[in-house]
Amino acid sequence: MGSTIVTKGTAYSQGLLLRVKEITVHMHLAVCTIRLFFIILPLAGCSIYAGVYHTVESGQTLWRITKAYDADIQEVAELNDISDPTQIRTGQRIFIPGAWRQIKVEPYLPAGDDNKNGSGKTSTRQPTYHQEEPEGKIVLEKWRFVWPVKGTIISPFGIRNGKKHDGIDIAASEGSPVFAAQKGEVIYSDNGIRGYGNIVMLKHAEGFITVYAHNKENLVNIGERVEKGDVIATLGGTGNASGPHLHFEIRKDRNPRNPLFFLP
Ligand SMILES: [Zn+2]
Repeated sequence: MGSTIVTKGTAYSQGLLLRVKEITVHMHLAVCTIRLFFIILPLAGCSIYAGVYHTVESGQTLWRITKAYDADIQEVAELNDISDPTQIRTGQRIFIPGAWRQIKVEPYLPAGDDNKNGSGKTSTRQPTYHQEEPEGKIVLEKWRFVWPVKGTIISPFGIRNGKKHDGIDIAASEGSPVFAAQKGEVIYSDNGIRGYGNIVMLKHAEGFITVYAHNKENLVNIGERVEKGDVIATLGGTGNASGPHLHFEIRKDRNPRNPLFFLP
């Protein structure tokens, strides 16, 4: 996967600044910092992410963990593909962005449940998650977008080997139609972003942008309006791709979001 987008326009300068700040603050790899000076819109490749893995212990809920780390529960949920917080299990590793070290998280014990087992020890039964104060709610917006291609997810969104994948990779046969995931306007249709081959970007309502990369052929032009489900490209393996697949991103206010939280 390539790492940089060098395009005209300054619409993403804020994102760039944030990214540069983030990289600088956390003293990321020097090579990234250098390359970032040339980035207007960073896509996936070089986003080394600071953070630690927290290994879930008995009684720890996602709410407790994110609260202890002062992390955003929605961000943690999306990075770790946790759409249902009741599904986290003891021993599971959860990536906490921005954290420097693993910290102690007090387990959740339902009120009045101490010592119910009569052993004199604190109860170790699994907590009933719905009793935890649900102050951080995970928001799913299924159906905000539709699937851009029929295929198989071969690489999920999130942190892998310390790098962040800003989208999902969907494998399908070369030449398959790539659909607009929602109605919008074409804001990019070119191949000027190293590693991504032919790319289409659509702008949608409410600050959303979708990105479709590695296309065999782009079938729309900049400025064009498209409807949800319109064929905007054919699937390919252009750019740095090991085989035919669509690299698909959903960005909200320039921030990459987990597409699975927005797809039916
Ligand atoms: Zn990808």
